[in-house]
Amino acid sequence: MKNILGIELSKLEEEMVALGQKKYRATQLFIWLYEKNVYNFDEMSDISLSFRETLKELYSIDLPKIHTKQEASDGTIKLLLEMSDGAKVETVLMRYDYGNALCVSSQVGCNMGCAFCASGLLKKQRDLSSGEMIGELIVMNQLLKKENTKISHIVVMGTGEPFDNYDNVLDFVKICNNPKGFEIGARHITVSTCGIPEGIRKYANEGLQVNLAISLHAPNDQIRNTLMPISKAFHMDELMDAIRYYEKVANRRVTFEYIMLKDINDSIACAKELKNLLKGLTSYVNLIPYNEVSSLEYKRSPKENVRAFADYLKNNGVNVTVRKEFGKDIDAACGQLRAKVNK
Ligand code: SAH
Repeated sequence: MKNILGIELSKLEEEMVALGQKKYRATQLFIWLYEKNVYNFDEMSDISLSFRETLKELYSIDLPKIHTKQEASDGTIKLLLEMSDGAKVETVLMRYDYGNALCVSSQVGCNMGCAFCASGLLKKQRDLSSGEMIGELIVMNQLLKKENTKISHIVVMGTGEPFDNYDNVLDFVKICNNPKGFEIGARHITVSTCGIPEGIRKYANEGLQVNLAISLHAPNDQIRNTLMPISKAFHMDELMDAIRYYEKVANRRVTFEYIMLKDINDSIACAKELKNLLKGLTSYVNLIPYNEVSSLEYKRSPKENVRAFADYLKNNGVNVTVRKEFGKDIDAACGQLRAKVNK
């Protein structure tokens, strides 16, 4: 049976029409599932009894189960979710002043193999479907319901490479953004990529107003090659070309994520190179304090280095922020909880 969660509105409309129904059935289903949080066809009272039976024969409403829940003293919640086939993925709630952000995983494991990342310790088993990503959101919203609040922001920055699962991620994003879906504003949704030029160009052409973040982490190919295998497949100039294309076509600026790693990429010389690399772009840089991973040798950059790096960029006209940290007392680093449980 097919999971009805995650079927994008225009596709669901087509499916309803193929079943001899009005297009509007799809909107009704969207409202039940994503506005009213009803996960049982029997309760969908404005749909005829006979068509409810048809829906039950054709579709399931699959939600992930909570395998492990960790809650930090700052309110961060990390869930390890179990999908219907037993696959486990992490999803994390971060509480900002401006709202509740959910960090969504897009794949089971990851093949990008970034040297500093705990997610890549476990190879990709498979992509997540759009319905499974929607499941991450619904399960967290169910927890937040007790507090009378819900997810207001989405970052696709959990385990996985979104542009290695392009279509499912896009359907997920569209349902989050749809006014009949979760109605999360496009500017409140961010997709983060390790930098696949083809994906960036395709994304630019979608006409979405959704934010794009690029995991840069180095100002040149030499350093980036040691951190991110993807850098060997697509060199910096090719990546920058794709980003310039994105800025022009989507008319949106990107955020560059830059993990500060001690003695690797945190010198003022690197800051200078970064400034030169970003010349002519309107984008800005988000410096990320590294979450150390016990089995990896990378160390977080000292606070003074982060400050000096940020100051150099700021004084040289580059927009820069330092990322706030969450969940310091739980397995916060991406993929760490999952890696632990899978061991
Ligand atoms: N594959 C995508 C999205 C998942 S990674 C991407 O590469 O962007 C999301 C972000 O978390 C990336 O910027 C990644 O480099 C960063 N990250 C991974 N491990 C980390 C760690 N231990 N500490 C801090 N940031 C980390």
